Amino acid sequence: MRLRNIKGATEAIESSPYCIQAPAEMKNHWREFFGNDNPIHIEVGMGKGRFLMNLAALHPDINYIGIERYTSVLFRAIQKMEEDEPPLPNVHFICMDADELPEVFDEKSIDKIYLNFSDPWPKDRHAKRRLTSRQFLARYDQILKPDGVLEFKTDNRPLFDFAIEELEPAGWKAQVITYDLHNDAALMEGNVMTEYEEKFSSVGNPICKYIIYR
Ligand code: SAM
Repeated sequence: MRLRNIKGATEAIESSPYCIQAPAEMKNHWREFFGNDNPIHIEVGMGKGRFLMNLAALHPDINYIGIERYTSVLFRAIQKMEEDEPPLPNVHFICMDADELPEVFDEKSIDKIYLNFSDPWPKDRHAKRRLTSRQFLARYDQILKPDGVLEFKTDNRPLFDFAIEELEPAGWKAQVITYDLHNDAALMEGNVMTEYEEKFSSVGNPICKYIIYR
């Protein structure tokens, strides 16, 4: 993703009711924050957030949290949220690096984690930065419920192959694997496209997906 500093992005995030400030202070207080016991689903590396906002509109009984590390990208998500009518009470954003997930979320508390079109970090020496690496799987393991779900979509075949290889050493197993999601009618049922999914599928790239039911 090409990034530009956007003037006012940090200030907009700090004053947005949709952004959670000091997220580490929310640990063990998420139920109070949402005011309900609904499941919590997070997208790690949410980009501009359209996927989560569409899901939140479809599923008002689920609490959604989007994690994005760049202010310039998160700023776009806030702008979209402000355009939405009526506002969605069940979606919030956090500006942070995903390596801090265990400091922010209660142990074994998250029902579902989405990884969509995660950055490929193509150099081998950067493999542990990939959001599907065993290092990140260990972080997800800390926060995901024992019966939680992890879903990953990408059009990047080498990244997907890497993601599959990382599962076994980390003690995970994918129950669903497809290399062409958009031609699988059963898996497409209820599929909500991300911004990157729309872009890459529109030029004919097959979309890979795995689903892990713990
Ligand atoms: N998920 C969106 C989609 O499918 O349209 C955006 C995909 S974009 C290629 C990946 C996003 O993940 C970028 O906005 C990037 O800043 C974010 N990201 C990558 N690594 C991250 C990390 N460690 N913590 C938080 N966000 C991260």
